[in-house]
Amino acid sequence: MLAAWLGALVSLVLLVAPASAEARYPARVVTIVVPFPAGGPTDTVGRLLAQAMGGALKTQFIIENIGGSGGVLGAARVAKSAPDGTTLLLHNIGLATSVALYRKLPYDPRRDLEPIGLVNDVPMSFVARRDFPASTLGELIDYVKVRKDEVTYANAGIGGASHLCGLYFMSAIATRVTPVPYKGTGPAMNDLLGGQVDFMCDQTTNTTNHIKAGKIKVFAVTSKARLPSLPEVPTMAEAGLPGIELGVWHALLAPKGTPQPILEALAAALQQALADPLVLDRFAALGASAATRDQATPDALRRHLDAEIAKWSPIIKAADAYAD
Ligand code: ASP
Repeated sequence: MLAAWLGALVSLVLLVAPASAEARYPARVVTIVVPFPAGGPTDTVGRLLAQAMGGALKTQFIIENIGGSGGVLGAARVAKSAPDGTTLLLHNIGLATSVALYRKLPYDPRRDLEPIGLVNDVPMSFVARRDFPASTLGELIDYVKVRKDEVTYANAGIGGASHLCGLYFMSAIATRVTPVPYKGTGPAMNDLLGGQVDFMCDQTTNTTNHIKAGKIKVFAVTSKARLPSLPEVPTMAEAGLPGIELGVWHALLAPKGTPQPILEALAAALQQALADPLVLDRFAALGASAATRDQATPDALRRHLDAEIAKWSPIIKAADAYAD
């Protein structure tokens, strides 16, 4: 009798404990892992989100930068973290392309991660060091075709959006140039500003301020239409290379197994952050479009990730462009 009563008490405690832990969520600081170094475009988005989501959930959100291998190292860390809502991942389109680019990926984004929601969409921009000899996209292409062995282009490693954009460009002009991989395009930008590397294709969230300050050259943006934030910069099609339209989406995810109420609280905080005028103004100034409320949901991100993996995997397999 006593044993049965004790057994019932233990089951009751076990039932109640997780629910009350979730009810207190977030009881601790929440870390958003950015799988690229500080100062880059994903980091910029992460820091804006951390501040706005921290405000929405009344707790501190911090950023941890774990760069390397086009974002694979940071994503792998989150995939192996405790599913308690205290470690999240902010990644980009590389989350989908790395599935095909890496034959030995240390995680599976659909099996090991839980979607929270889409964050934004950011066009890329072709930029070069300030004293680069070419000043238009046409001149860049002519220069690259003649001096391909000497020309260097920076990227964030295989799987990064900058790597993908470089692949697109090289296949469009049927010429290979020398890639210089970094752990992310924050450090790559430092070298572009310092003149140690020739050109790069990167999110406008990393390039806009330097373009406006005249510290780097810009040839074109990869959006369909010109950007209100950079109205004088032509689209790729206007600059003479149609067919390279590339939007880099960013998304927020949690380790697989994160309880449903926590995922719902995080999606609601993400939606609140994406309605915050400070975030929206900053995104607009850097050429980014915020995800709509409907896109900033676990279901919408799940469908998007499936569609992106289905879209990119055959293209990468056909190009035989593997990282390992
Ligand atoms: N722009 C980088 C990429 O190529 C990532 C970063 O450093 O934020 O994916």
